[in-house]
Formats: sequence, structure tokens, C-alpha cells
Amino acid sequence: MKTYRIFSLIALCAAAVSCGNDWLDLEPSTRVPSETSIQLVSEAKYALNSVYNTMQDPYAYSGRLVYYADVTADDMIAVSSTKRTGNYYRFNFSKDNAPASHWSYLYNMIANCNIVLNKIDQLPTQNDDEKTLRDNIKGEAKCLRALAYFDLLRLYSYPYTMDGGASLGVPLVDKAADINSKPARSTVAQCYDQVISDLTEGCELIGEDFQKGHLNKWGALTLLSRVYLYKGDNAKALKTAQEAIEGAEENGYALWTNEEYPTAWSNDANAGKPGEVLLEIVNLTTDSPGKESLGYLNSGSGYKDYCVTVSFYKLLQSDPKDVRNKIIKIASKIPYVNKFQPQEGEAIADANIPLIRLSEAYLNAAEAACKLEDNANAVKYLDPIVRRANPDNTVEGETVTLDRVLLERRKELVGEGHRLYDLMRNNLRVQRVDAKDSKVSKVPAHYSKYLDFDRTFYMIVLPIPKAEMDANPSLADQQNPGY
Ligand code: CA
Repeated sequence: MKTYRIFSLIALCAAAVSCGNDWLDLEPSTRVPSETSIQLVSEAKYALNSVYNTMQDPYAYSGRLVYYADVTADDMIAVSSTKRTGNYYRFNFSKDNAPASHWSYLYNMIANCNIVLNKIDQLPTQNDDEKTLRDNIKGEAKCLRALAYFDLLRLYSYPYTMDGGASLGVPLVDKAADINSKPARSTVAQCYDQVISDLTEGCELIGEDFQKGHLNKWGALTLLSRVYLYKGDNAKALKTAQEAIEGAEENGYALWTNEEYPTAWSNDANAGKPGEVLLEIVNLTTDSPGKESLGYLNSGSGYKDYCVTVSFYKLLQSDPKDVRNKIIKIASKIPYVNKFQPQEGEAIADANIPLIRLSEAYLNAAEAACKLEDNANAVKYLDPIVRRANPDNTVEGETVTLDRVLLERRKELVGEGHRLYDLMRNNLRVQRVDAKDSKVSKVPAHYSKYLDFDRTFYMIVLPIPKAEMDANPSLADQQNPGY
């Protein structure tokens, strides 16, 4: 009898990627040590680095996994229907032709984290330093696995807040060694349990120090606060975000200042000056994701692929002194987000990708506090973001509404892969409003037929990829509804 493996798709994907695309000449994401090759802590570290290599791919966090939630919502738009982001903007995909890479790269990360986690407790240590390193690797692997599962949930499952997590999540795969496993989808609630348990345990073990390109405790806690916020557990979201902010700031992280903000994105952060990016994808000229990367896609000197909408541009412009106007760069009347700035001496394709910023921890705390009707904390955490953007502005003395927090979040996090999820988890609508402006006028919203929708629209989640449906009989009646 023929047997299948859940990861059949990954092999297909890697094969497709490795031939014919010279710009994607990276460490292949499948070049990972097997469990049997991990006998030392140093080898576990090497295996963990392979997870970051997978994340760096432009089909993963150097590109597609980030832009998806921006171009499917209201504040960003494909420059034309033929651009890479055009089919996402127009929801022009079906269960038979939807992209599979979101699924395969994230499950690849999970598989490689599992390889590390299945071996790590058995590895010998010679001294306390090595034992600490082993703990850190274990914590990091758990937190990265949580990141991957959480992003699978954001892509493939309806929001937890829609039905208390009763609908279908994704298959949970604990044992990488079991290549014949064909798990069905767990519920969203079960998957959240897995994510929260991984992050909670991981945060007890993961390192606190700055480590270039790696997740540490403060990034992981910010991610956990995001997960609680998505779950509607606002008390824990607030508490966790506060812990992240306090810990990060004690360890030298700080919100960028108004003066730093326009160009801070190009900083080559280091332990002496970590800035506010808590997790970034480090791209180098010698290790570049190439032209499918966010740096190249978002640039008037690159593929000119997607940009902010005219209505969002006007929203920012309504406060001309808001420093965030300076990260909009207009080229040929098209307003691009200029957050993916290359580091010194690099080409635009080599720009690092910020995945978790301290600003988000503040916004998570403010949103959770607002929902808890804790106005003092809502003001406390929103005000630094408001003042940083324009020192003339403040929310001191105001009763902060949820709309006010989400407006600030929208302005602060544009282009960083949050918008669709922020609207859907809060049961708000995507409204693609056309606007006109003399400075930017080239991109009309109306070339999609989906201009106004909420979370009852079936295409707010991707279909489970066809290859996965074909390979795993347990999923036979578990395709997302509507596809
Ligand atoms: Ca770089």
C-alpha cells in the first residue's frame, strides 16, 4: 500500500525552487541535519540556524508571509493586476491553484524545530555554559515552532474571536520522525493551546541577550502578547506585553526617537545599540533573498510591486508632521513603504526585515488595556507611540477608544504584515476606499471585485493547498468552507 507523508509538499516546493531561479540560490531549506546527526549541542545550534535559513526565504519572511496580510486588506495595493501581489489583492485564486508556499515553508520550520526538540534533552553538556546554551536552543526552537503554528492559523483558520476557537485550525505535528503521519486538522482552540504552551515554556528557557537575527525572550514575549490579543485574553495580553517592554528596555532596547525614525530601519543593530527591532530577518549581500524580497518589491527602484493606497496616504498626510509620512517614498506618483531599507553598502534586495518591534508591544498593551477599560494603561502605552510620531500630539487626559488604538496601530505597522488579521480578529471590515490626491494618483482600488468585506467572506483564509489535500486523506472533508 502506498504511504504518504504530510511533508510531501515541502519536497516538491524545494525541488521547484532550486532549479531555474538563480536569484534564489540560498541554502536550500531542506538541507537540515537529521535527528541522528545531532549528537552535540553545537550540532543542535546548527540545526536551529537552518530554521532561520528557511525563514529568510522570500517565499517565507523575506517576502510573501509578510506582504500577504497587507495586500489582502485596505491600506496597501498591488501596483497592477499583473504584479506578484496582484492575485492576492484581487483574491484571484482557488483551491486548485492557490499558492502552497505559505503552508510548506511554515511546516518546514516546524519539522526542523521538532528535530531539534526531539533530541535536545539527550545531548550531553560539559559545563554550565553549555547547559545554558542547550536550554536557550530548546527555548528558541519552541518559540519558533509557536511562531510558525500561529502564522499557519492566521493564514488558514478563522479568527479565534469568531467562535471561541471551535473551527478548524491546522494539523499539529509533534514528531518529525513519524514521516507517515497523516494528522487531521485540530481545532483553532487546540492549536492556540499548543502555541501558548510552546511560548510559555520557551520563554522560561530562551536567552535574554541580544543575538543578531535571533529571537530572544523579549521578542518571544511580544509574540505571546500578540497571541493573547488575538485570543481575546486581554488581561494576559496586557501583562505579557508589559513584561516584554520592561525586560526589553532593561536590556538596552528602546523605541526609536522621532529623529531616528525615518532612517532607523537601515540600522545594523548590535548588542551595544539594539534599537527597537526584537526579531529581524538578517539579509546580506552575500546571503540575499534576491529580487522577490520585500526590499525590492517595495521600491520604485525595484519591482514596484505594491504600495500604500491613496486613501492611506491621505490618512497619514492629514497630520503632515507625523514622522511616519517620511517612510512613504513616492516614485513616479506611486507611494511606496520605505521600511525595508538596506543596511550600509547593500543593495535594496538585501534589506533586513523587521518581524517583531517594541512598538508593537506598546500597541498590544494599549489595545488590551483599552478592552479591559483600563484607561490609565491604555494612555500609558499608546502615548509614547503617538508622541514619537508627532511630539505635538498626545492622548494624555483622553479616554482612549479602541478605534483610537487601532488607528495608531494601522499607521505604525503598515507594511509589516498585520492589517488583514487586525481587522478580522476585531470583527471589522476591509473597506477599500478610492481617493484622489494630486501627489499620488496612479493606483485605483477598484480593480478588485472585493472592495468591502468582513470575516464572513470565505476568502479571508487561504485554502489548504491541493498537494496537501491530495497527500493526506485525513483532510478529505476538512477543506476550508466555500472553496
Ligand atoms: Ca541587510
